[in-house]
Amino acid sequence: MNILMGLEFKMHTSNHKNNLIIKSLAFTLCALLITGCGQKEQVSVTDGPIVVENDISQAQSIAVEQVSSLNNNSGALYNKEETGAGEEEITEDPATNLTDDGAESEESEKSEDEIPDEAESENDSGQEETAETVATVSVTPGSVTSVALNPNWLYADFSKINTGSAVLYSAPSNRKNIVIGLNPGHGTKGGTSVKTYCHPDMSPKVTGGTTAAGATTAVAVSAGMSFSDGTSEAAVALKTAQILRDMLLADGYDVLMLRDDADVQLDNIARTVIGNNMANCIISLHWDGDSLSYDKGCFYVSTPDGIKGMEPVASHWQQHEALGQALINGLQATGCKIYKGGSMDIDLTQTSFSTVASVDIELGNAASAHDDGTLTVLAGGLLKGIESVY
Ligand SMILES: [Zn+2]
Repeated sequence: MNILMGLEFKMHTSNHKNNLIIKSLAFTLCALLITGCGQKEQVSVTDGPIVVENDISQAQSIAVEQVSSLNNNSGALYNKEETGAGEEEITEDPATNLTDDGAESEESEKSEDEIPDEAESENDSGQEETAETVATVSVTPGSVTSVALNPNWLYADFSKINTGSAVLYSAPSNRKNIVIGLNPGHGTKGGTSVKTYCHPDMSPKVTGGTTAAGATTAVAVSAGMSFSDGTSEAAVALKTAQILRDMLLADGYDVLMLRDDADVQLDNIARTVIGNNMANCIISLHWDGDSLSYDKGCFYVSTPDGIKGMEPVASHWQQHEALGQALINGLQATGCKIYKGGSMDIDLTQTSFSTVASVDIELGNAASAHDDGTLTVLAGGLLKGIESVY
């Protein structure tokens, strides 16, 4: 539709230099989505004072200056640099079983067994995309745009649940042109009855968690844990993401909410792939499903050595760790409790499919306070960490 009007593509080969590129990607994609996939022109805003519900077809003058060189045949309209992977799924909370006082036994107690049922045989993992897209887009400040999964994006075909949409909120002022992807964990009805591959090369998981080590597939989206008072992790994660979203918007960051409601029909891979293509980074919010009776504190999920040689992890795990550490530093500076060294190696689907800095951060466990005041403090700590990187 007329949305396309403002698009202007300029192709040219370039060598990577992500930052600027990535940030622009977001909008590029946005444009692509609008053009390529069917669009949900309208977005439902859950709550966000800053957000204005808007009709994409109307304003959005998206002036895109895109630089891209597609060296691969994936069909993706544009690729960021290198391999594009989707980040995605947090199969569950890395459960740490701490014995009494903190001695953790890294294994997770999750009971899922993997039933590698489906057989997607296409392996995109080997694709090498060296394309870069640099886009400068001007989107209506304060707008809200629905973003669907583009089936042409790298790893999109590994997703099994993808009829829902993420929501891109653009900052109303003081725009930094940086898109922070927030993924409130869980919250996909039917997510536990579908399996997706753990790794883009279909190799088995190297650590246990919701899904046992050795499994090649895991539930598309696990149910998540419940706090001691019965509140669901999914609900608390969403509330925290909304608080953080508003802080980020006020600070000039655009925010891509990979789940913006109680339920979103996007599995972990779909969320990751959308984040890969529309955001500078992906931060998934979780609380650990251990069985401790005391607040364990925050930690981020670091990359196990066993998958550091697999793409796209090999090319991005250091970015993941840097972001994770920055978030922990921000939380710590804000007075939040940090669990041990602040990180724990767990083989997550999200990490395995991420081509942008991507972190699963666990903000506590069932015994942790989760009132609005506490969540605001946690969000403030995360904001501080984000500001130190972007
Ligand atoms: Zn979780």
